[in-house]
Amino acid sequence: MVRNVCKLCGSKKGLQQSHIIPKFVFKWLKESSATGYLRVGANPNIRCQDGLKTELLCWDCEQLLSSWENEVSKSLFYPYQSTKQPLSYSEYLLKFSVSLSWRVLTYLMLDDNIKADLSPSLTQKIEQVLATWKNFILDIKPNPGIFEQHLLDLL
Ligand SMILES: [Zn+2]
Repeated sequence: MVRNVCKLCGSKKGLQQSHIIPKFVFKWLKESSATGYLRVGANPNIRCQDGLKTELLCWDCEQLLSSWENEVSKSLFYPYQSTKQPLSYSEYLLKFSVSLSWRVLTYLMLDDNIKADLSPSLTQKIEQVLATWKNFILDIKPNPGIFEQHLLDLL
């Protein structure tokens, strides 16, 4: 992947520090932790207050993904945490889910050590997944096709 180019739209408008996992998740984890602080499993002696960020998206793409994050946070995540009742949702949940999956997988593929351990066929499949999700996020495709999203309630 080329650095300094938006990994989603391909523009060279300058990259933002993008959260890989949405900020609202870390906010909730801090609010619900006993100490009010978070620690990362790989280095538990260091407090991690805001989640992992990296240069991934341009400002426009960051705003696009943030709009779905905000809707999920406001309409589903926080209401569900307090009520544990079924909630209705619309297309924004699928957009958010795909964008989150895309961000995590894109981030992992930036790591040359991870890429080196992948077989050529798996690398090709991952590139197909990322392209499909990107096209769905950018409204080029109407759905993520065979690369579905499933939401599990593990709480
Ligand atoms: Zn972009």
